[in-house]
Amino acid sequence: MTQQSSQLSSIEKEELPAQAALSTQSVTLAYEQNVIAKDLSVDIPHGKFTVIVGPNGCGKSTLLRSLSRLLVPQSGEILLNGKNIHSQSTKEVAKKLGLLPQSAIAPDGIKVIDLVSRGRFPHQKWFQPWSEADQQAVELAMQATGVIDYAELNVDQLSGGQRQRVWVAMALAQETSLLLLDEPTTYLDIAHQIELMDLFQDLNQIQGHTLVAVLHDLNHACRYADHLIMIKSGQVIATGAPNEIVTEAIIQQVFGLSCLILTDPVSNTPLIIPRGRKTAN
Ligand code: ADP
Ligand code: MG
Repeated sequence: MTQQSSQLSSIEKEELPAQAALSTQSVTLAYEQNVIAKDLSVDIPHGKFTVIVGPNGCGKSTLLRSLSRLLVPQSGEILLNGKNIHSQSTKEVAKKLGLLPQSAIAPDGIKVIDLVSRGRFPHQKWFQPWSEADQQAVELAMQATGVIDYAELNVDQLSGGQRQRVWVAMALAQETSLLLLDEPTTYLDIAHQIELMDLFQDLNQIQGHTLVAVLHDLNHACRYADHLIMIKSGQVIATGAPNEIVTEAIIQQVFGLSCLILTDPVSNTPLIIPRGRKTAN
């Protein structure tokens, strides 16, 4: 991406609607009596790449499940394009929003093309056969993610990185403008992590998808996010552009980690260097 085109994309981003694409309004998220988040309000801005970070068990996946309508809040509302998500049908929501769950598991023996094709379910009607539009969407999704050469292979024959790209292809075939990705890069080696993050960046900057990803790697989060949401124990501790919000004090508060913050020489974003126990003081 050239300097000029990245400037263009940031100008275009500023012209996007002010209303959030997706938001939680003072929600309480719980599994029966076990309250994970109380009074939680989060905005996912249109057209941006939002990254959510926070310690294990702080409620990131729970938040993503609620944002994708899988978990009903005990109180408060989830708004999708300004409208209560629970007033919209499963298919309506699935035409607007796709979720790649944490550690998704493919059905045994399924072929790549068949898994990607499952992304078309919200567009299908029981009385209509598989259409040209379905076929085209599946092929485009496989091309964009570089998995078209594996179309006829079984998903379980692929490496972790290839498999993850197949899941992304399935979400893309759904043709939603909003994609929620729960730890899409966990378990991948560094080269495959960067490859996938670059693909997400292209989906956001070139194709205009609104993206939300939960990531563990704070440096990747700072490098790729337009908008960072830092969560601890179901509460937002900080939110905004990484350059504006990431400080040693915030990392200490959210992760209990003593660190130094330098500037990433490649991206000019915060580079977090953990001190570790031996050097902490
Ligand atoms: P994170 O994604 O930030 O690691 P989660 O949202 O998965 O955290 O989990 C937050 C808390 O909710 C954890 O304490 C976890 O044990 C609990 N939890 C997650 N899923 C369920 C579930 N299906 N039933 C009951 N408790 C759950
Ligand atoms: Mg999780």
